[in-house]
Amino acid sequence: MIIAVDGPTASGKGTIAKALAAHFGLPYLDTGLLYRAVGRQTQLSGGDPDNQDDAVAACRFNNILLHDPSLRSEEVGGLASRVSVHPAVRAALFEKQRAFAEQPGGALLDGRDIGTVIAPEADVKLFITASVQERARRRWLEMQGREIEIPLAVIEQDVAARDARDINRKDAPLKAAPDALVMDTTSFDRDQAIEAAIEAVSNRLER
Ligand code: C5P
Repeated sequence: MIIAVDGPTASGKGTIAKALAAHFGLPYLDTGLLYRAVGRQTQLSGGDPDNQDDAVAACRFNNILLHDPSLRSEEVGGLASRVSVHPAVRAALFEKQRAFAEQPGGALLDGRDIGTVIAPEADVKLFITASVQERARRRWLEMQGREIEIPLAVIEQDVAARDARDINRKDAPLKAAPDALVMDTTSFDRDQAIEAAIEAVSNRLER
């Protein structure tokens, strides 16, 4: 069984995906982390994230980088969004994601294009969303928790810029697959969102 969880940044997608993977006993891949590693590696190599050749070279990052806490920063999120625009970067990361999706026993992947490009045959596709304001607020609270002082307005701008880049790119833009279940988590807290997602996936599997 393959479960695809897509959606914009700070929609609650990661939290929901991890909870679903644990509930249904599936191995989990956060595909955003791969793009973050490419963004960070481009920076470490002194490359330009907007240059396709530099970003493709960075796809050969060492897997140890995936454990680097800096990958979770706002800055690296922005770099990831820039390198992910290049079709050759997406192609270079395709096989890794496909192999994960195809493993015996199934898998759960979260990202932007899992239900549309990586695993269009997924048994269940969820598209998690929430308003820009709410997503910025969540990201801001998370930063506060990590004692990073950054104005809410700056985060809101960043979230909107990342949405625009993800939605408008030519290759594998962020969009819900036609057969995806769309879940808006704006008015949900963490537990409500997880509960609603488990129920939605269970219902879909029973059909
Ligand atoms: O999900 P996360 O915020 O870690 O993703 C960082 C960036 O990587 C996203 O803004 C998006 O541009 C890119 N990404 C992508 N396709 C995916 C996962 C992430 O383009 N499957």
